[in-house]
Amino acid sequence: MIHYKTPEEIEYIRKSSLLVSETLATLVEFIKPGQTTKKIDEIAEAFINDHQAKPAFKGYRGFPATLCISVNEEVVHGIPSDRIIQEGDILSVDCGVKKDGYFGDSAFTFPVGEVSAEAKKLLRVTLNALYLGIEKAVVGNRIGDISYAIQEHTQFKHNYGVVRDLIGHGVGKNLHEEPDVPNYGKRGKGLVLKEGLTIAIEPMINLGTHEVKVLDDKWTIVTRDGRPSAHFEHTIAVGKGMPQILSDHNLIFEAIKKSDYISDF
Ligand code: MG
Ligand code: MG
Repeated sequence: MIHYKTPEEIEYIRKSSLLVSETLATLVEFIKPGQTTKKIDEIAEAFINDHQAKPAFKGYRGFPATLCISVNEEVVHGIPSDRIIQEGDILSVDCGVKKDGYFGDSAFTFPVGEVSAEAKKLLRVTLNALYLGIEKAVVGNRIGDISYAIQEHTQFKHNYGVVRDLIGHGVGKNLHEEPDVPNYGKRGKGLVLKEGLTIAIEPMINLGTHEVKVLDDKWTIVTRDGRPSAHFEHTIAVGKGMPQILSDHNLIFEAIKKSDYISDF
């Protein structure tokens, strides 16, 4: 069943989503060569707890950490560890929080130092695809319009692999709720979008094949061909004529401007 939110509920989801963005922005200065992914996770957890909120992923179906940190060929659901961040890595950081009973969910892929030109382009195209999908999240359109916009830009235009095994989702009093929001699909198909629908749109796009597999840790999803993958996500509310983006990448880009290690792309 789909729960359409009242304007008051959307404000709660906005607060949670903004806290996620603030968390990701806070991490920027710590994402650098020599740092462990575990340390990044600890900083995020402390920041969220300091803001009267709870990490949404920790304990979710047994997930052991606050963040999902997925490096290079890891697509999503990477577990923070003693792995040391290297120059040239791309680091997908996914974060969720629960505050005042409502969830926010957003992700960003960070290039560490000088990354390859093809990785940089993958990040830019995936980020643009997210916004092209969001543009379609208006009353009267359908889920398939969002899905198609993402697939068209990434797969049809740039020949990247669109991950199919993982998709976007409704967000609200639950981290994951109906409806499904795939990153591939047909225009004019699927659920008709109505006011009050809040969803996480999250393209996961691979440089090579769309095929993925799960590592032995039962969480980390990696590309089958070992080539890099990018992930960007916003929590949004469907609007009349224009969607509301509830999380905020501007905070992250402002932090990137001040960073010595994360470059714009
Ligand atoms: Mg997420
Ligand atoms: Mg999500």
